Amino acid sequence: MKKTNIETLLSHDGKKAHSKGAVVPPIYQNSLFTMKDWDDVDKTFDDRVNNYIYTRGNNPSVRVVEEKLAKISRGESAKLFGSGMAAISASILSCIKKGDHIVTVKNIYGPANSLLQKYFKPKFGIEVTYITGTDINEFKEAIQPNTSLIYLESPSSVVLSLQDLEAVAKLAKAKGIKTIIDNTWASPVFQKPLSLGIDLEIHSCSKYIGGHSDVVAGVVIGGEKDINDLFTKEFELFGAKIAPFEAWLLLRSLRTLKIRMDQHQKSALTVARFLEKHPKIAKINYPGLESFPQYELGKKQMTGYSGLMSFQLKTDDLDKIKTFFNGLSLFQIGVSWGGHESLIYAPAISYLKELSKEQFEGMGISLGDMRISIGLESAEDLIEDLDLGLSKI
Ligand SMILES: *Cc1c(COP(=O)(O)O)cnc(C)c1O
Repeated sequence: MKKTNIETLLSHDGKKAHSKGAVVPPIYQNSLFTMKDWDDVDKTFDDRVNNYIYTRGNNPSVRVVEEKLAKISRGESAKLFGSGMAAISASILSCIKKGDHIVTVKNIYGPANSLLQKYFKPKFGIEVTYITGTDINEFKEAIQPNTSLIYLESPSSVVLSLQDLEAVAKLAKAKGIKTIIDNTWASPVFQKPLSLGIDLEIHSCSKYIGGHSDVVAGVVIGGEKDINDLFTKEFELFGAKIAPFEAWLLLRSLRTLKIRMDQHQKSALTVARFLEKHPKIAKINYPGLESFPQYELGKKQMTGYSGLMSFQLKTDDLDKIKTFFNGLSLFQIGVSWGGHESLIYAPAISYLKELSKEQFEGMGISLGDMRISIGLESAEDLIEDLDLGLSKI
């Protein structure tokens, strides 16, 4: 067979993948795997990365998901973690040592930024330079002799700004610098950073890969050597493994990833076009709109757009902002995103707890900014809900 398409990869685990012809694999809910004799133990430990010894390392329920995620992302290998943050912290640690320098973009996921600022910087003397990341020259200027990592998130959190992945990967490779991308927004369906030369791709599987708002998990995908190194160090030693049952739920979720993403995209575009024209909206950030400042770059490096967007209300009157935020009926209030249910969140609530007013404004975020995740409900119903909410302010 020629190249297998993503729908098929998501649906199949390979012919006769599971014992006794089970169409869905069982959950291997066990902590250890027994071996035959002395020589078998000896041989098994020679290839710890690929063999089943103990569930803090490998487990068949986890392995089947890792293989599927590696395939659909065009990576050689993948490792699942107990959360997206576990995948992020392990990956960054695998690329840096004491005294190194990291280049990153301003609007990375909040807790990832806290990890750099409140942990790596004070504890290990890691320096960080923040750039907007919209111009390749910014990267060139930010690189120092001790830069060991460029950490990307494209589209980034809240403002959804993009970085040119191919150009950054090329620059980094020429200088021997590792690249990591948080690819959660696009999902493996709409963006394939490894094909563009990025070293490690991370997803919070708590978002689209899980998609049902019932699992917290993360994954790192990359070349076999990088993932094997990560396995024996930051994965096995820190121990942030995923439970077999949660991996099994992810396998269930992956079956529908492509059709869910197509639906999120379709509804999100419809909602974004409605908001773009609404007189009470000052600004909307959604890479799928032709008016998005980096629309051309998005089209070049992504094959579609997911369901998360942000917009700014025209008013800066906090009472009115709260009236809108509290007044929707289909959009539920909550953090996280990427599930079947539509959600609304006001980034200002979190950022103002962490940052000074000046820092907050420097992030390009305002009090009236709203982040919405478009779920799998009818787009028509979602628009009606937003329209009614906007009419109250
Ligand atoms: C949620 C999220 C994470 C963290 O994932 P968890 O599974 O919650 O630890 C990382 N990056 C982005 C962009 C996210 O939205």
